[in-house]
Amino acid sequence: MTPATRRPRAGWLARLLRPLRPGGAVTPGWTVGAVRDDPPAIDLHGPGGAVLPVRLAARDGRPAYAVTRSFAVYYVADPPGRPLGPDAETALRAVVAAVAAGDERLGRRSPRLPESLRPAPRALLHDPTLDRDAYRAAVRELVRREGRPAGVVLTVDSPCDLRCSFCTRGAGGIVPPHQTLSTVDDLRFQVETLAATGAETLDFGGDEPMSHPALPRLVRFARRRGFRRVTVATAGVRLGEPGVAAALAAAGVEQVRVPLYGSTARVHDAVTGVPGSFRRTLAGLRAARAAGLDVELRTVALRDNLDSLPGLERLAARLALDPPSVGQVAPRSDDPEDFRRNAPAYTAVVRALHHSRLQLAGFPLCLRRLASPADSDRRRAEARARPLRAFRSPDPTPPWRAPHYPPPCRRCALRPACPGTYALYVALHGDAELRPVPRAGRPKPHP
Ligand code: SF4
Repeated sequence: MTPATRRPRAGWLARLLRPLRPGGAVTPGWTVGAVRDDPPAIDLHGPGGAVLPVRLAARDGRPAYAVTRSFAVYYVADPPGRPLGPDAETALRAVVAAVAAGDERLGRRSPRLPESLRPAPRALLHDPTLDRDAYRAAVRELVRREGRPAGVVLTVDSPCDLRCSFCTRGAGGIVPPHQTLSTVDDLRFQVETLAATGAETLDFGGDEPMSHPALPRLVRFARRRGFRRVTVATAGVRLGEPGVAAALAAAGVEQVRVPLYGSTARVHDAVTGVPGSFRRTLAGLRAARAAGLDVELRTVALRDNLDSLPGLERLAARLALDPPSVGQVAPRSDDPEDFRRNAPAYTAVVRALHHSRLQLAGFPLCLRRLASPADSDRRRAEARARPLRAFRSPDPTPPWRAPHYPPPCRRCALRPACPGTYALYVALHGDAELRPVPRAGRPKPHP
């Protein structure tokens, strides 16, 4: 919509925002502070003197936090790059909803948008990272090479609620947290592109797809575009907020996949870097179950949580959930010392899980607990089957994060289905722990 050139009537933004009023509550702990018509801006006031500046600009197709019929909505992170906390995010979403409702209400009657409603300054814009032509070409190429995928992954740019110790965006990570969100238009484009692959499952991933206010809408869009199954990978801390899990279920989400990094608050919160995250995640898991969502627990084997992993089996049982699978942590840079601090040796992982029913996922298939004689037959059959493909963002994988298959893998029957290891792991620990499974006959016993 083109901004009108008439002078705005004073107070137009307050009218647009109704029923939110200056000084009134937005969400518990957050109120509407200053409301300025020119340029249009709202300050949200939060606990401890926090201020979240929100800006409106004319909707002009450029990336924004959210768009309504006429407006693009931005927020200003202070310092730049700091993602919103969940409470601030909820308050911001309430303002976006008020803007959208007011836009419909006033826009139909007589739009009196101010002259000052110009495109937002560049500093407030989300980095337009999605090159649509490149994305479409990359997905087509993957389908041409590998055939129709069973499942596809859509990576949503969205601020994460956690600061995990091993994450590229966490404390000590090499890239800053997302400040802003993928645009809804970009996400719809990706949903349509991925739907054209014929995949049945769409998994919303990214830092925290649930911090994107359009997620339920996108889920419904994906279902209309033919995805039979929609899943969401989430830290889970938002699932316990009132109505959130039920809204996801109503939109058509079948499953949420939630990580628990330890069986106690002490371990989990130390890994996530967010005090209280364990308690909130458990509340989210219970809410997801109550809403009828299928819940899959996950975890990652780290040096700092190995002792706590077996307790996850009992914790999952208390929550009436299956125990989590245990994933392999990926390097977040080419720094071997950083990887050494996070990643335990495979042997230590196997030893830690020896008396539990927890299963490894994303580890070399030949680790001892997966390569018992009975299991290797099953693994061989999996290797013969067409491996499931989940397409991710076509962003190139950096070499230090790419799967690595050292020389022993050349003679291994499991190679087609094996996620492999990392070159950094082999550089640190060698490849002596790997036990290639012969193409016929029994695997060598592990020493
Ligand atoms: S030997 Fe290599 S290919 Fe075979 S299971 Fe182990 S890591 Fe995978």
